[in-house]
Amino acid sequence: MAYQLIREWTGIQQFPLATRTKLIELLGKLKQENVNTLTILVMGKGGVGKSSTVNSILGERAVTVNAFQSEGPRPVMVSRSQAGFTLNIIDTPGLVEGGYVNDQAVEIIKRFLLDKTIDVLLYVDRLDVYRTDNLDKQVVKAITDSFGKQIWRRGVVVLTHGQLSPPDGLNYEDFFSRRSEALMRVVRLGAGIRKQDLQDFAIPVIPVENSGRCNKNESDEKILPNGTAWIPNLVKTIIDLVSNGSKAILVDKKLIEGPNPNKRGKFLIPLIVAFQYLVVKQIQRTIKDDIKKEPKVPWEVRSANPKF
Ligand code: GDP
Ligand code: MG
Repeated sequence: MAYQLIREWTGIQQFPLATRTKLIELLGKLKQENVNTLTILVMGKGGVGKSSTVNSILGERAVTVNAFQSEGPRPVMVSRSQAGFTLNIIDTPGLVEGGYVNDQAVEIIKRFLLDKTIDVLLYVDRLDVYRTDNLDKQVVKAITDSFGKQIWRRGVVVLTHGQLSPPDGLNYEDFFSRRSEALMRVVRLGAGIRKQDLQDFAIPVIPVENSGRCNKNESDEKILPNGTAWIPNLVKTIIDLVSNGSKAILVDKKLIEGPNPNKRGKFLIPLIVAFQYLVVKQIQRTIKDDIKKEPKVPWEVRSANPKF
C-alpha cells in the first residue's frame, strides 16, 4: 500500500467541549473492543455534500468543497490519529456524469480502494430533494456491484441540508421520514435487498447540516431542527454499525477484478447447461440401446422387412 500520511487529529479540538467529550467517549468504546482503526468510505452523486460531510466529521477543511465546479477525478483518503486511534475517511468524486453512472469513475474508486478495508459506507444524498429517480437506483447498484450487497450492512444513508423548512403541511419529522422511506426504497431496489432480508439490512438514515449557519444549542453544538446534536449522533451511528456483528469489506483483487460479487457463481451456468446436455444425451443413448436390445414383436419385424 502506498505510504499514507497520518496526522494528529487536531480538528477534534475545534469542536465544542460537549461534542469533543462525546466523540472521545465513543472512540474509547471502540478501543475497548480492540478496534484501533476505522475506515469510512463516502459515496454518492456529485454536489450532494460528500466533501462537506467529511470536513464536518473531521472538524477541519481537509478536502475541497465546491459549489459549482465538478469534483476532481480521484478519491482522497484523509487519515487522522487521536490517542492511538486512526480515523481514515475516503472522499470520492460523484459517480454520475451526463445523466448516467460513469463506469470509469467507479473503476478509479475501486482501484484506489485496493487492499483497504471499508468499515463503514456513508451513502450521501440531500434531505431537501423531493424525488428519487432511476439514476439514484443506478448509483446504489454501481456501489453494490462493486463491493457486494453486504456493504449495505455497514451502510449509513446521510442526508445533508438537514436544516430545512419542510413544505407546507408537513412537519420536520414527517418530511424526514417521507424522504428516508423514499431513499430506503431506492437502496433496497438498487442493492437487490429482498423484503424478507430487510431486518438484516436495517440501514440508519441520519440528517446532517454542513452549513456554517447551522443552529447551535446552549453548549455550542451544531443541532438540527429536532434538537439533535448531529455530529456525535452520526459518529455514534457509525460506531454502532461496526459492532453489529457484520463484517467489514476487504477490497482485494478478487473483489475488484473477479466477477460481480452479486453474481458470483453465475459463470457456472454454461458448465451446468453443458453437464445437463451430456446427461440428457447419455439417457437418450441408453433408451435407444434398450429399444434395440428388446425382442421385436411380429408386426415390427414385418414393417422393418417389407417382404413379409
Ligand atoms: P460533493 O460534490 O458531494 O462533495 O459536495 P460538496 O461537499 O462539495 O458540496 C456542494 C455544495 O453544497 C457546496 O457549496 C457546499 O457548501 C454545499 N453543502 C454541502 N452540504 C451542505 C449542507 O448540509 N447544507 C448546506 N446549506 N449546504 C451544503
Ligand atoms: Mg466532493
